[in-house]
Amino acid sequence: MAKHFDYICIGGGSGGIASANRAAMYGAKVAIIEAKALGGTCVNVGCVPKKVMWHGAQIAEAIHLYAKDYGFNVDVKEFSWAKLVENREAYISRIHASYDNVLGNNNVEVINGFATFVDAKTITVNGEHYTADHILIAVGGEPSIPNVPGAEHGIDSNGFFKLVEQPKRTAIVGAGYIAVEIAGVLSALGTDTHLFVRKESPLRSFDPMIVDTLVEVMAAEGPTLHTHSIPKEVVKEADGSITLHFEDGKSHNTDLLIWAIGRHPTTDKINLQAAGVETNARGYIKVDQYQQTNIDGIYCVGDIMEGGIELTPIAVKAGRQLSERLFNNKPEAKMDYKLVPTVVFSHPPIGTIGLTTQEAIDQYGEENVKVYQSGFTSMYTAITTHRQPCKMKLVCAGADEKVVGLHGIGYTVDEMIQGFGVAIKMGATKADFDSVVAIHPTGSEEFVTMR
Ligand code: FAD
Ligand code: NAD
Repeated sequence: MAKHFDYICIGGGSGGIASANRAAMYGAKVAIIEAKALGGTCVNVGCVPKKVMWHGAQIAEAIHLYAKDYGFNVDVKEFSWAKLVENREAYISRIHASYDNVLGNNNVEVINGFATFVDAKTITVNGEHYTADHILIAVGGEPSIPNVPGAEHGIDSNGFFKLVEQPKRTAIVGAGYIAVEIAGVLSALGTDTHLFVRKESPLRSFDPMIVDTLVEVMAAEGPTLHTHSIPKEVVKEADGSITLHFEDGKSHNTDLLIWAIGRHPTTDKINLQAAGVETNARGYIKVDQYQQTNIDGIYCVGDIMEGGIELTPIAVKAGRQLSERLFNNKPEAKMDYKLVPTVVFSHPPIGTIGLTTQEAIDQYGEENVKVYQSGFTSMYTAITTHRQPCKMKLVCAGADEKVVGLHGIGYTVDEMIQGFGVAIKMGATKADFDSVVAIHPTGSEEFVTMR
């Protein structure tokens, strides 16, 4: 006979774990099903290992770009990629243990295996059947590979985290978060890194001030950016190297090729038809504002949701809100997908919330938008020969100059944005920003002193 639960979460990633724990804290009988490792993309092949590599790259930059001008005569005997990876993976193992503990303490049953639907109330894993009143689908996505001959000679972001030694030369194709972040890490760690984007720049959905500054720093520090480069074919050479051929006839020879061209949902593998759950043509699950699919008792959060935002805190918050609604008698609890702060861990980092200048003009009309901007050399780099720009922008709308967009790129911008997110979410105006006394000397003080 099938074992019955109040709530089953399919996928032990950011959304599934958060939702399962929250439901169990309210006394629900909960199971979570995970096919691979607890923590999902973020913990195992995403945010966590990426951020560790980024910290490693920051140390490399401090040593190679800045230490000398701060008076240190540094002689680096060795950089061990293997050591960095070993410590990164040990850290991830500790996160796994901690997740196991928390789920155990909350009495969530962890089922290891790949889940598929039998019907709208029944799941099968390793030949066993499980039923539930409520089922959450949080199976996440996987990296996409382009449909060009020889694409299999490249790896994806999962493959990047499996590398046991540092590549000497790498080509990265893509223009989004992952391409920019991995390219920045490899370049700072000393790999000869080339980033290929299809159009005129990477991160094209970001404010042009951010993009222009990133491109300027890339030109000064690496990686080497190649624009208007559309891959046509990949050839594995007799010496083991890889040649990437482009539509415009150019080519590039490298040791390692990384595809970072986006991700797609894995919803095609879980027999959704048996449950009758509707997806769009690309496999993203359709939900209403309460994460409810077209089938009663089946919900979806995270990267696989149509119209969602592929960030861990989005999956986490949506999962928790859903459990508040289902198991804590809060019928109106739901995720607010507006004004989401986000950081790209590039070199230097980028932080952004809300509208770009153009988006604000489109929404409010040019005459109702006022933009404040600041540009300076970060103090950290100002006394060195590797001066690095820091640029910031506030986009304000209406007579009261409500701050509808905040953008920054530069040293430590990644750690500046969260608090401003609170202010903007509360509806802060430029005058509210100005009413705060600046913290000096910091970079973030520019956000409250712009004229
Ligand atoms: P996932 O975390 O992907 O979890 C889904 C889980 O479901 C997986 O563990 C999978 O094994 C499991 N699963 C799938 N099918 C089944 C099945 N049938 N049965 C059982 N289990 C199944 N976001 C940020 O906010 N900040 C960052 O810095 C950041 N960096 C990133 C870097 C990279 C390289 C990548 C790839 C992503 C990054 N993200 C980042 C995005 C973030 O990782 C995702 O948005 C987040 O993990 C989505 O959570 P999720 O719960 O939807 O899915
Ligand atoms: P993305 O959608 O952000 O970027 C994919 C890029 O690849 C796009 O710029 C696109 O123009 C380009 N592209 C698509 N097809 C291509 C092709 N055939 N050839 C060349 N280029 C092609 O995807 P991503 O970088 O894989 O990241 C996925 C998501 O994960 C992000 O949107 C983000 O939400 C999340 N993420 C967040 C962080 C963070 O918070 N710091 C870091 C990494 C990833």
